[in-house]
Amino acid sequence: MSETYKAIEVTKPGEFSLANKPLRDPGPGQVRIRVEACGVCHSDAATVDGLFPIEWPRVPGHEVVGKIDALGSGVQGWTVGQRVGVGFLAGSCGYCEFCRNGDLVNCKNQEYTGIHDDGGYAEVMIAKASGLVSIPDDLSSADAAPLLCAGITTFSALRNCPAKASDLVAVLGIGGLGHLAVQYARHMGFEVVAIARGNNTAELAKKLGAHHYIDSAAADPAAALQALGGAKVILITASGGKTVAATFKGLRPGGVSIALGVGPEPIDVTSMDLIFASRKVEGALTGTPAIGDATLRFSALSGVSAMIETVPLDQAAAAYAKMMSGKARFRMVLVTKNGAGQGAAEVRQI
Ligand SMILES: [Zn+2]
Ligand SMILES: [Zn+2]
Repeated sequence: MSETYKAIEVTKPGEFSLANKPLRDPGPGQVRIRVEACGVCHSDAATVDGLFPIEWPRVPGHEVVGKIDALGSGVQGWTVGQRVGVGFLAGSCGYCEFCRNGDLVNCKNQEYTGIHDDGGYAEVMIAKASGLVSIPDDLSSADAAPLLCAGITTFSALRNCPAKASDLVAVLGIGGLGHLAVQYARHMGFEVVAIARGNNTAELAKKLGAHHYIDSAAADPAAALQALGGAKVILITASGGKTVAATFKGLRPGGVSIALGVGPEPIDVTSMDLIFASRKVEGALTGTPAIGDATLRFSALSGVSAMIETVPLDQAAAAYAKMMSGKARFRMVLVTKNGAGQGAAEVRQI
């Protein structure tokens, strides 16, 4: 009798279903993971809504933490029993032009977890060893899960940005990404400005470590940033192009707006505003496995954590719906029977 495991599949756009899938061995270069926790990310919509060409059924989920229970042939550097994470980028090929030049994020043969291959809404997942991230012992699996996408994305953008300690760094949007970005920015030594609509998140933003809060509904955020001296970096965690444009003139000369939220809306910025203060707009796509290791290590060292709500794996559809409705505060995390009983930390005071 062959062993099976539970997985939550999307069988066609918008439809979740519980499946019992046969356990299979990892192929060359792959590991098999007993999943303990998996975060629910807005980008899971790419699977659930079928935004990419997808072979149905497909298991979503790219914020996966679990223990390796089998190694495929040729896998080196990882051991059975080790706790690992898998993010959105499923693993680089090692031989394409970009890999050969050290740019693993833009590997031409990179697949996306939960889109090209089954992801972590399951008790078991097969993953490429080249995409794995190490999980520090002092982070629970549920706490570590959201750091594999929301964490890496914000940490990587801030770690690679041109701001230095004491520079003014603004985080636009205090949601799943933004509430982590504010904490990272504070712990990296920046003067941190949180920008959001309304005053509901002002207190939370301060608690997360923001020195200043700008209510973009009450004040022109670009003028408010200039009143503080102008931002060296604005991290845009919201997805609208208009939000990038509305804050752009809040950059000091040589500053950069970094877009992290994906959306179809164009960014309407004049060449005048680009050229006359040597400003830049750029995008950043998650990060390499090494940046993933650093994200988790830094989070454990500094006490940065996501505010999470954990639910059992079989409530994946409800957790996904809550995340999509914008009601999650701020990340939903699915916990399997392998990860049950693990406590999740409260958000920590700065
Ligand atoms: Zn994600
Ligand atoms: Zn490659």
